[in-house]
Amino acid sequence: MRATEFEFYAPTSLDGALEVLDKYEEEAKVLAGGMSMVPAMNLGLLRPAAIVSLNQLSGLGEVHEDNGTIRIGAMTRHAEVASNELLSSSVPLMSSAAAVIGDVQIRNRGTIGGSIAHADPAGDYLGPCIALGADITLASSGGVRTVSAREFFVDIMRTSATPTEVVTEISIPKPSQQARMAYARLVRVEGNFAIVTAAAVVTDDSARVAVGGVTSRPVLVEQPAEPLRAGDKTAFAALGEAAHKACEDAYGDLTGTAEYRREMASVYAKRAVRAALGIDERGA
Ligand SMILES: Cc1cc2nc3c(=O)[nH]c(=O)nc-3n(C[C@H](O)[C@H](O)[C@H](O)COP(=O)(O)OP(=O)(O)OC[C@H]3O[C@@H](n4cnc5c(N)ncnc54)[C@H](O)[C@@H]3O)c2cc1C
Repeated sequence: MRATEFEFYAPTSLDGALEVLDKYEEEAKVLAGGMSMVPAMNLGLLRPAAIVSLNQLSGLGEVHEDNGTIRIGAMTRHAEVASNELLSSSVPLMSSAAAVIGDVQIRNRGTIGGSIAHADPAGDYLGPCIALGADITLASSGGVRTVSAREFFVDIMRTSATPTEVVTEISIPKPSQQARMAYARLVRVEGNFAIVTAAAVVTDDSARVAVGGVTSRPVLVEQPAEPLRAGDKTAFAALGEAAHKACEDAYGDLTGTAEYRREMASVYAKRAVRAALGIDERGA
């Protein structure tokens, strides 16, 4: 199927982009890497009257640290998230997630902002953003607001952003040096979307695991860190049980039934925490 006709805008400033969004409101779509949007248009699932490309804007593709916060510009491509030194040293969970997205072409074009705005429940950034306590910055002609990742993801491919808002930044409080983190995902064929994802962050006090791909948006499970760090089998069993319980609204599709996804949520939540702590699978 061929995409329908649309007006194309490539503003060079954010204000210019916001102006077009105000003019067309829900009839306009922002274009980032186009990796999800162009296929949706070709399938006739999306028929925007106007497309506003962010690709000519400067300043949205930067990664930097600012007063204990790691800031990732929305137009940062997956390949950069995967290889950026600041990210791999301070929030390696983000780099690990980016490194397994799709294939080289997808990673070279797709952006973190596009991925987050698309909000596919099996998307690889959703869980890490929630587990790391990230905030999403949204700009509109009315100003700038910040929403926590937990509130941002509302449902399958639905976020709390309005049609006239642009995601400009993902900000993450820099974890302490002692924090341990790991990403685990269940996938049948490399390059495909994952069936289940688990993003774990273990700090002095708690182990936080965000499980994705099972329910309409990732769920967050939190358990005391100490017994897990000690490899206590009962604590790992409790973690798996908590993940299973949190996923009671699991959905099923061609890649796996709801029951299977729930089981795998439990398995992968434990797997991610073990990987974060460097505990052998057979050890706990
Ligand atoms: C074959 C294939 C395999 C893939 N595998 C994976 C995978 O394993 N894991 C994974 O996580 N993803 C995967 N993806 C999706 C990929 O990560 C996309 O890059 C991502 O979902 C969308 O990012 P994009 O920059 O291409 O956004 P686009 O396709 O340009 O936009 C996607 C949506 O977000 C909106 N949008 C984009 N940027 C913004 C913004 N800054 N503010 C507000 N709205 C915005 C657009 O209007 C559109 O609705 C895959 C895609 C393909 C085609």
